[in-house]
Amino acid sequence: MKVLIVDDSPMTLALAQARLRDENLDVSCASGGVEGLVKAKKERPDLILLDLKMPDLSGYEVCEQLKSDPLLSAIPVIFLTAADSTEDKVKGLDMGAVDYVAKPFDPVELCARVRAALRVKRLQDLLNLRAQLDPLTELWNRQAMQDRLRQEWARMSRHEEALSFVMMDIDHFKRVNDTFGHPAGDRVLCAVSQVLTAQCRESDMPCRYGGEEFAVILPDVNSTAAAHFAERCREEIEKISLSAQSRVIHVTASFGVADSRDLHAREELIHRADEALYRAKHAGRNRVVLWECNEWASDYVREGQS
Ligand code: GH3
Ligand code: MG
Ligand code: MG
Repeated sequence: MKVLIVDDSPMTLALAQARLRDENLDVSCASGGVEGLVKAKKERPDLILLDLKMPDLSGYEVCEQLKSDPLLSAIPVIFLTAADSTEDKVKGLDMGAVDYVAKPFDPVELCARVRAALRVKRLQDLLNLRAQLDPLTELWNRQAMQDRLRQEWARMSRHEEALSFVMMDIDHFKRVNDTFGHPAGDRVLCAVSQVLTAQCRESDMPCRYGGEEFAVILPDVNSTAAAHFAERCREEIEKISLSAQSRVIHVTASFGVADSRDLHAREELIHRADEALYRAKHAGRNRVVLWECNEWASDYVREGQS
């Protein structure tokens, strides 16, 4: 895990750095508040050790800025304070610091407090990740998808890049449950999720949108490329080979594809992909439909068998 030490005293920096490196931590240093903030933004450490008294920005000011930045506010802060100042300690803790270490510090105590703070941080990270995942398929959940779409939309608007969205729904999935039972249905959901994940690049984001509906965010991808992506997924889903009660379960899915061209709000992107999916269902299922300038290309890529 990464620790950032912010202190204007070279002695303190050198000592703390040496001790924490012995703990197998990835340690970086900043010799003032301004540099500390820059490094915190760039490196996103798991913990910040923050001196209170620095000439450029006080530890309080640095902490205030960290806590007001949504990207940095979750990083725990341990203050390095003068031993005799109860007021400083209380103020630091009230500002959101998780702990303090009195200077001159005992290196053994410093390491123990750092370990304790990192244990809590690790658990917090795990809980945050769990809250973003769908427990059955381990794909991103709808909330995580909405958060990511908000970010990608902002990035796309700044850089005028493409952004595509694919909505997918398993065909006649209720029949799978009715015929083979709910556990078999769950296995199908997991197998479909694996296909999506395998077809995605690192920058793409596959999610479980709801019951048997899935969505994929494809940053920097136009709708033509996104339709080809969806078509590859469609073909691979058709090849899924699962059986239950000595019978083969056939799985197909329908896809709606849209990109952000001419759109003003990200909700419209989801809406268009959803409309295209609706068309795919009505055109016979097991196919990809691309939303394009109000014209429907129901056999845009290749018509599958419904
Ligand atoms: P269509 O082709 O029109 O999409 O038909 P469909 O049967 O797939 O759609 P419908 O919305 O009628 O049925 C969806 C089914 O998905 C109903 C619901 O019980 C099932 N489902 C939703 N979530 C889960 C789940 O987590 N596990 C299982 N096994 N089934 C689920
Ligand atoms: Mg369905
Ligand atoms: Mg559905």
